[in-house]
Amino acid sequence: MVVDHRIVVTRRPPGGTLDWLTSVGAVWTWDENRPIPDSLFSSEIVGATGLYCMLTDRIDADLLDLAPDLLAVSQMAVGVDNIDLRAATERGIPVGHTPDVLTETTADHAFGLMLATARRLSEASDFVRAGGWKQWEPELLLGAEVHGTTLGIIGLGRIGKAVARRASGFGMKALYSQRTPDPVAEAGLGVQYRSLDALLGESDHVIVLAALTDETKGMIDSKALALMKPTATLVNAARGPLVDSDALAEALSRGIIFGAGLDVTDPEPIPVDHPLLALPNCLVVPHIGSATFRTRVHMAEMAAANLVAALSGERMPHCANPEVYEK
Ligand code: NAP
Repeated sequence: MVVDHRIVVTRRPPGGTLDWLTSVGAVWTWDENRPIPDSLFSSEIVGATGLYCMLTDRIDADLLDLAPDLLAVSQMAVGVDNIDLRAATERGIPVGHTPDVLTETTADHAFGLMLATARRLSEASDFVRAGGWKQWEPELLLGAEVHGTTLGIIGLGRIGKAVARRASGFGMKALYSQRTPDPVAEAGLGVQYRSLDALLGESDHVIVLAALTDETKGMIDSKALALMKPTATLVNAARGPLVDSDALAEALSRGIIFGAGLDVTDPEPIPVDHPLLALPNCLVVPHIGSATFRTRVHMAEMAAANLVAALSGERMPHCANPEVYEK
């Protein structure tokens, strides 16, 4: 086997996927259980022809300029907001990602966060562990109803649609908001389009599942939160910066909304002394939307397949900037 390529892997992926990469090149892997330090990343990327990366890495134009031989980038995630896609496209570099394979798993998690937030599961668990459970009480830890209520989905993409399917099993009315109305989803899933403001005002539970872009950054700010019902919950299972953390902490502490469930935060990781973590009505988990044994291995394999294809001169099967092939 002729080893042609030099591949940088910024974090050891699950399963045996590194073996896939060694079939096409020499592989350098950052092996520690923390993101690769910037200075090391900048030096290792020099001379690389392939990059296998994670959502914690920043891949911007400056980094790409350090790697003039780079032929392909492949990320083990569906969201690629940490990568300057335009800069990659300008340099003719396809960027791989992992759509579909994590859709149902992440939808399970987003829906679960909504249930846990509405029914105060984290607070209830803390209550038991702290020895608070002395008796059954008629008004102990009352929560918000879920079945039969109205769910607002911001971003009816792959995961948003999977959440809408779950909502129908709970007898919920599902609303959605995004830039482009989706009549096919409306007919197939029974979801109804609303402007963002109308969705926020009408929904009993809101789940944020839009991509992070310049346009969506901070879209849930104090103005947006003020439009929500005081009995409503908010779940963010997309990317932290879609929600203004300070505005959310303020809204939760003042009872502007009932509760929040966050899989993602801004900043991420969230510092332990962050005001959100002091609030009993805020459930925060560490970005584990796709974190099941099976799905993470599938993601790792899909990312490896993307890189191997590109380095073998084939079209990348799951490319986040397909326009690169039109140049
Ligand atoms: P997708 O199919 O590409 O859906 C993205 C959605 O965002 C689309 O419906 C899009 O609709 C909407 N959107 C884009 N710009 C918008 C705007 N300005 N206003 C409102 N909506 C907008 O992606 P997906 O696979 O469902 O994943 C969605 C996001 O979830 C990813 O981008 C990723 O960041 C996140 N994610 C998180 C986890 C986790 O572990 N928590 C796991 C997987 C994915 P329009 O284009 O019509 O606006």
